[in-house]
Amino acid sequence: MKVAIYPGTFDPITNGHVDIIVRAARIFDKIIVTVAKNPVKQPLFSTQERIFLIEQVLSDLENCRNVEVKSFDGLIVKFAQSEGACTIIRGLRAISDFEYELQMALMNRRLADDITTVFLMPHENYTYLNSTIVKEVASLGGDISSFVPEIVRLKLKDKLT
Ligand code: ADP
Repeated sequence: MKVAIYPGTFDPITNGHVDIIVRAARIFDKIIVTVAKNPVKQPLFSTQERIFLIEQVLSDLENCRNVEVKSFDGLIVKFAQSEGACTIIRGLRAISDFEYELQMALMNRRLADDITTVFLMPHENYTYLNSTIVKEVASLGGDISSFVPEIVRLKLKDKLT
């Protein structure tokens, strides 16, 4: 069974994340979306809220029955090993992502050679999307309905007003 983890902050999940999850779910037998607690980043949503939103979004997706959500705190390669995963999935949107992602992938490989990072490119509609810009647009009253699932839009509205 090919298990992959998809780690990130997901503060909150966007349509770009969903696109990557759907693609990954077609390739691997099981995907574990791994929510990094990341207190340093001071997320807008708590870990529980971020997990809840991802689970709600996934429950509407027919072809994502092989996707689970877990939280994690610590070394990502250790978490992958403890879950029997041999792959870390990351999204690659633009050249600007590349340098940081390459560094992370190579460091993780040094730490655990049995874990391989695989990069997936989202649909081009989502290459400019990230959670930070979505929160910024939402806080300024902009329409974010094409960037995030409806439940996320509503939760963001609650949080920011
Ligand atoms: P992190 O803080 O680890 O970067 P994010 O939640 O911002 O966490 O992102 C998690 C992963 O999802 C990263 O690999 C990131 O490149 C990818 N990602 C984020 N937004 C998008 C998007 N719009 N399209 C594709 N991948 C994305």
